[in-house]
Amino acid sequence: MKFVLDNTVGKLARLLRIAGFDTTYVVENDLPQVIAISREQQRLIVSRNSRYEKLALAADFYHVESDDPEEQFLALLSDLNLDLEENLWLSRCLECNALLERVDKQATSGKVWPYVWATQEKFYHCPDCDKLFWSATHVAAMREKLLELKSELDRRRRPGEP
Ligand SMILES: [Zn+2]
Repeated sequence: MKFVLDNTVGKLARLLRIAGFDTTYVVENDLPQVIAISREQQRLIVSRNSRYEKLALAADFYHVESDDPEEQFLALLSDLNLDLEENLWLSRCLECNALLERVDKQATSGKVWPYVWATQEKFYHCPDCDKLFWSATHVAAMREKLLELKSELDRRRRPGEP
């Protein structure tokens, strides 16, 4: 499942990328551009803007109801029956959506702050925007958040259980 999101759901776009979903994000308020990307790349349009219903085929559009990003995320995954697969978490560049590649620590020497280089072992590189990523406290926090969302999603799928 691939998505294209517009600027009505920016935080949701970030959550989807953190979880590893292939998510194109269009910053400009440009409905024709979003629709064109959806058609060319077979991406589901996800937006709070209901105007897409009239402009695009209904099947290509998911209308987000909530204004809370975590609730939006849970509703989308629930409605589309998608799972949160842990092996995909944090596998994408949060800036541009490309899949990150593991890089040898030696290759990052001089490209990151000395403190980071001295304290981190695993580095990842984005082939599209050339950004470097490593595990830091915010990564642990994102993983923690995903675990929380995953258990909430599981809870919703088992109605009747505590
Ligand atoms: Zn990137």
